Amino acid sequence: MERIQGVAAHAAGAELLPFHYDPGELKPLEVEIGVTHCGVCHSDLHLIANDWGISQFPFIPGHEVVGTITALGADVHTLEIGQRVGLGWQSNSCGTCEWCMQGMENLCAALEGTCVHRHGGYADRVRANFRFVIPIPETMDSAQTAPLLCGGITVYNPLRTHCINPSSRVGIVGIGGLGHMAIQFARVFGAEVTAFSTSAAKEEEARALGAQYFVNSRDSKAIKEMAGTQDFILNTVNADQDWSGYLQALRPLGTLCFVGVPPSPVSMQISPIIAGARSVTGSPIGSPSRLREMMDVAARHGVKAQIESFSMDKANAAIDKVKKNKVRYRAVLSN
Ligand code: NAP
Ligand code: ZN
Repeated sequence: MERIQGVAAHAAGAELLPFHYDPGELKPLEVEIGVTHCGVCHSDLHLIANDWGISQFPFIPGHEVVGTITALGADVHTLEIGQRVGLGWQSNSCGTCEWCMQGMENLCAALEGTCVHRHGGYADRVRANFRFVIPIPETMDSAQTAPLLCGGITVYNPLRTHCINPSSRVGIVGIGGLGHMAIQFARVFGAEVTAFSTSAAKEEEARALGAQYFVNSRDSKAIKEMAGTQDFILNTVNADQDWSGYLQALRPLGTLCFVGVPPSPVSMQISPIIAGARSVTGSPIGSPSRLREMMDVAARHGVKAQIESFSMDKANAAIDKVKKNKVRYRAVLSN
């Protein structure tokens, strides 16, 4: 087998450097994808920094892959060589636990990440179990679709699970990679959308993406004025915030849902949760069947990532720009 060429961090927080590895024999249920595009998700930055204590170095990041199939395991019969496909955060699951059997493979305790304890998509090729390799609808652009494979499904899944509909008032906190796709999906579901952002310069674009309202998330008075207005607030921010403020912004029966990963434990008053029967929850990516559904919805309703393109050898520049919150709205690497 030819070695796989990519860019890897060799220590926590290190710059990515060219790196190659021997992928070994392709397993019977595996697919190898020739990567054409890979999105830069903030989770890649967390993994490079070893923020979650799960990174192993050297490490090739990348889990928002679009490419074409270059090799098929002996027992894969549902995909074809040359077919355009996508691969997200998850690359395998046990397939036999109660969650896998119910089609909720993203809740499997044996979930394997595309770039956790193995090398990901900032490379010329990447491998995964065929169940997690999703065909891309013909009409979709590869670069604008790659970010849907992690960022997109991560926001689509909770909006769908919590039955967002035209009566819903939805707040999206943080208008970055995830947030800008969340605005679009919430609009597709018919909701009234409020964008909460630290970046005043994003207001016009947030409105163009479908937000009716825009609130400065650093203005505690403005957040207070939102009290009792939102049915569902989706936090995509990876920094500590005044969570009690967002809890207060919920209507009775409202839900504050975390997909962004703030560094500190979250503390909030319990009385608004009890008094308004409000909920606080979280959501991890989505199952392969949700991923297929999301792709179909995105294709039919024109949901796509707004991207900035970088060649694979400029991965460090892309990462730097994400770190500085300067990307509008997803960096995508290409080979
Ligand atoms: P991103 O593109 O960097 O966007 C994050 C946004 O958060 C920024 O654009 C910014 O939006 C806002 N923000 C950043 N720093 C802030 C601060 N100090 N205070 C308030 N707001 C701040 O990141 P992403 O790729 O969307 O990922 C966001 C988070 O989701 C990460 O923690 C990532 O690990 C997590 N994630 C989780 C899952 C899951 O399955 N649950 C999947 C993918 C990613 P404004 O400029 O609008 O303020
Ligand atoms: Zn991700």
